Amino acid sequence: MTCGCPFDTRYWFACWDLPHDKAERGCMINLTVPDTFQTCSNGILDSVTSSAGRKTYWWRHPYGIATYLMTFSASRFASWDTFHVNPGNGETIPVIHWMWPEDSAATRVGYQRLPDMFDYFTRPDVFGDYPFDKFGHVPGYYGFQWGGMEHQTLVMLHPSYIGGGRESTIAHELSHMWWGDMVTHVDHRDVWLNEGFATYAECMYMGHWRGRPFFSNYILGKAQSAISQDRARRFAIYDPPELYNYGTIYCKGAWVQHMLRWVAGDTAWEQPGAFFEGQRVYGDSFKYGTVSTTDYCRIMEQVTGMELDWFFDEWIYLAGYPKYFLNTVSEQVGDSFRVVTTLAQSNGQQAPDFFQTPLPVRFNCLYVDTMVIISPQANPQVDTFMLFSCPESVTVDPDDWVLDSAYVSVTGVAEAEPGSSSWVRLFAVGPNPSVGRVRFEMFGQPGGDARVEVFDRTGRRVAEVAGRFGTEGTALLGWNHDSRVPAGVYFCRAAGSGQEPVKLVLAD
Ligand SMILES: [Zn+2]
Repeated sequence: MTCGCPFDTRYWFACWDLPHDKAERGCMINLTVPDTFQTCSNGILDSVTSSAGRKTYWWRHPYGIATYLMTFSASRFASWDTFHVNPGNGETIPVIHWMWPEDSAATRVGYQRLPDMFDYFTRPDVFGDYPFDKFGHVPGYYGFQWGGMEHQTLVMLHPSYIGGGRESTIAHELSHMWWGDMVTHVDHRDVWLNEGFATYAECMYMGHWRGRPFFSNYILGKAQSAISQDRARRFAIYDPPELYNYGTIYCKGAWVQHMLRWVAGDTAWEQPGAFFEGQRVYGDSFKYGTVSTTDYCRIMEQVTGMELDWFFDEWIYLAGYPKYFLNTVSEQVGDSFRVVTTLAQSNGQQAPDFFQTPLPVRFNCLYVDTMVIISPQANPQVDTFMLFSCPESVTVDPDDWVLDSAYVSVTGVAEAEPGSSSWVRLFAVGPNPSVGRVRFEMFGQPGGDARVEVFDRTGRRVAEVAGRFGTEGTALLGWNHDSRVPAGVYFCRAAGSGQEPVKLVLAD
């Protein structure tokens, strides 16, 4: 067998082994094996010839194909087959699975949802017709112990994945036939166009199969992987230091697709709209060719009529995710309620100062909840909303459209405890490391006292910096630390916040 992804195909035939150099007219792979063996490869078996105890299998696949997607396997295989009918062009696509004879029954279970996946992805309002002449699976032992490899028309699955309970992987690899194979990233800096897309397609299928609540939990699992990867090592999706990084390329990449769908307003469950139209136009425009992130951005701009450079800048070319701090203050005005929201972001290094992605926020009221959208154009972003009833609490991103983490505070709600301020937060400390002067940015009760405490490593308080919150509940404090505070590591915290301390390095 072969599994050449990403750079090993050059070891079995001479090629320029990079994704942009596709074989535009496809490939023919001829395999001569002992006549007790069967073979499988890309495309359709054209013919078999026999000679002196050997057989030669002639495989033909007349579609553009990248070198890393070419493959063959030869063994004492069993196989079984079925078919899929494209709803658009009416073509019948043979589906042939190869396996070792003892696994034949297990694969009947393992692949039983494949027809449903085909039906879903090939819907005219999802991805449209399957783009090749065949599909199938073959087991293979390759350089890792999990998952599959989306060789064109012949997915290779690790043997532990063929017996059932791996529907998400099978859907992921099937979707690669469109995203990765039919259109291929032009070079490896754009690898998210393969893996982010396939991971999102996997989420979509799992949601289609098991429902919206399952979808939410499933994609939140991807968010956890993305965020924990970001905490361990932060880098942008574009041109990653590690090609197949799961958290950033697969999971954050899937979230980029999900958020683009949100930005495109394509949010009705199981009623695909502009985002999905964009997927199909992108597929048709670059069918059997190669693509870059710029190409994708341009297509999505054409389809949605939106300007989207900012979106790709913040999510693909910069790193991180938004860390929101939302403070809301309500007051009764006549028989309505005026709610002032202050949305600040503290996103850290390599990340945008603030993400512009619109953030849905729900005010939870006694009778009717109100959903608003905050579109940050500044940091912090201050907005005023008029509501008919008084909000009792606030939920940031209730339907999980944005990859974020959020702290929420509500003050002044329900005129019950005016002036109460249990919520205060230090959201930015800089520069860090710092020489001479440090700035602290805080959230708290408008007009109230703002205080930051600084501790050394032993927990001894070495300074307290005081000021006052402005009318929007934000405060900016400056601290000139002098020679009495030696260089080293310190921890700072908004006084009375119970917040996890922020590490601060004072340099000489
Ligand atoms: Zn994949």
